Amino acid sequence: MTPTFADVEVAADRIAGVAHRTPVMRSRLLDEMTGARLFFKCENLQRAGVFKFRGAYNAVSALPADVRARGVVTYSSGNHAQAISLAARLHGVPATIVMPLDAPEVKVAATAGYGAQIVRYDRYTQDYAAIAACLADEQGATVIPPCDHPDIIAGQGTATRELMEDVGDLGALFVPVGGGGLFSGSVVSAQAMQPGCRLYGVEPEAGNDGQQSLAQGRIVTIDAPQTIADGAQTRFLDPLPFEILLDARPTMLTASDDELVETMRLLASLMKIIVEPTGCLGLAAVRQMADQLAGQRVGIILSGGNVDLARFADLINPTAVERT
Ligand SMILES: *Cc1c(COP(=O)(O)O)cnc(C)c1O
Repeated sequence: MTPTFADVEVAADRIAGVAHRTPVMRSRLLDEMTGARLFFKCENLQRAGVFKFRGAYNAVSALPADVRARGVVTYSSGNHAQAISLAARLHGVPATIVMPLDAPEVKVAATAGYGAQIVRYDRYTQDYAAIAACLADEQGATVIPPCDHPDIIAGQGTATRELMEDVGDLGALFVPVGGGGLFSGSVVSAQAMQPGCRLYGVEPEAGNDGQQSLAQGRIVTIDAPQTIADGAQTRFLDPLPFEILLDARPTMLTASDDELVETMRLLASLMKIIVEPTGCLGLAAVRQMADQLAGQRVGIILSGGNVDLARFADLINPTAVERT
């Protein structure tokens, strides 16, 4: 069942007082550079450093108490792992996380720090969903996937709900896209609150499976994309987000790794905030199409801020040659 805006409102109640109502920031210089009026929803300042805490906390809360007590299992390249681990800890229930061997160490360490048990796998050869299902079976626990779940999507939709409540009418909204949980939740909120707002989903250039999927009207699966945007290193849109997006027909855009690096640098120098590469997708796309957005009020979801500081320094260093 695809979630509705009523589900987003239930999620908003569940996370109230637990998730941060993150600030909406402005930048006069970025407004000048783009010619638009930009409203940044700062989910890099969310708990666990990422919007994913919204969906994770909502999904763990929604489980019946006796089911929840047996624990939760998930798979993730990092941010959903951290979010589920924190949500489980706040509910006092165990979490087991299946993480790729090449997940950024900062995310692995943060996940372990929340007390979750971690199982590593090879992203290029092994099936994470099968491993998670098997572990859940053994433990009597519940699998909470990163995107393909109505409570996850409804939870992610609360970020756009807050943004639109706080700033009023937007002409356009730009959202990073991996498996599609954040974007589909954003679409559910935007369509209910501001049906005139144009919706843009942004993927890494190395992996535009979502763009291909919406163009072809079926889920297109690609090889694991090589990109610095590790939060969007997904191979396909998940079925539930795809259904919502296919119905809404948003515009899909891409941004290159170089554009993400340049955007990270701008956000750090002009707004004094650390945004991870994936979190820069929205602003990177706005910068590409600035001439079409002149004078408009534009919402941008800065989706997360979990990047190892040494790596951040490397990436934004203009003299660095090697970026991977
Ligand atoms: C997970 C993630 C995304 C993509 O979200 P999906 O729901 O998978 O589409 C974007 N940005 C960051 C920082 C993320 O962690």
